Amino acid sequence: MKRVSPSRLSDFKQCPQLFKFRSIDRLMEPATIYQARGTTAHLALQRLFGDDASERTPERLFDLFRQAWAEVRDEEYTHLFETVEEERAWGIESLELLANYFTVEDPTKIDPVDCELDLIEEVQDVTVRGILDRIDENAAGDLVVTDYKTGKAPPERYALPAFFALKIYALLTRRHFGRAPVELRLLYLNGPTLYSLAVTGQQLDAMERQVQALWAAIKAAIEKEAFPPRPSRLCDWCAFQGICPAFGGTGEPTPDMARRPETIPA
Ligand code: SF4
Repeated sequence: MKRVSPSRLSDFKQCPQLFKFRSIDRLMEPATIYQARGTTAHLALQRLFGDDASERTPERLFDLFRQAWAEVRDEEYTHLFETVEEERAWGIESLELLANYFTVEDPTKIDPVDCELDLIEEVQDVTVRGILDRIDENAAGDLVVTDYKTGKAPPERYALPAFFALKIYALLTRRHFGRAPVELRLLYLNGPTLYSLAVTGQQLDAMERQVQALWAAIKAAIEKEAFPPRPSRLCDWCAFQGICPAFGGTGEPTPDMARRPETIPA
């Protein structure tokens, strides 16, 4: 492996076996309506900030969602719905979620520094690639990183682990802009809920050491070919239960399982 994303580091932390299935075996996972909603909503929100501030209305966001869906549907999600009614119900539910966005913040008052910023940075001896949903400046001119979530917001007491990947995005931001963000925001459309975390340079230094340690553990696991499964309640949503050793599987993909191409487009 030459580089890793915050999500894949998060996989390894959660379950090394899951990391192997996704990153080493590069197994494809079945497309879901939740994934389709996330992809389309992210695209629509990104494009909303390409419009003049005064045009960033709910109706405009709904139109952008419909346009984005017409694009990604034919590329990635052709067989997701069995009937037009199912697809329509999904679309209506998605627009209701997007309407929630306007109860959390007013996009006409936001002037982003960048949206969907693709960053590839060296963090010690590991190359990390991540795509930031949005980066803004607050009133004091400090950087604030926002990540949109279309899944359900966790209760507040469980929210902190959800910031793990975002703290790695903060590291990439610090490398790229030469200054660290002061605030990380998880904006859940399904809630709607906004979780915000203040970060300091020392916390990011600690995160850098954690990334370094995780990368060392990944290299050791690859060398020993040892990726122990770590069962948790997240197994209920894991697409690989059927081949996972924790559930009686061999830990190896079956020949009929589809794999992603080896190279990640930059
Ligand atoms: S089923 Fe659970 S233990 Fe097995 S790979 Fe998936 S998350 Fe890990």
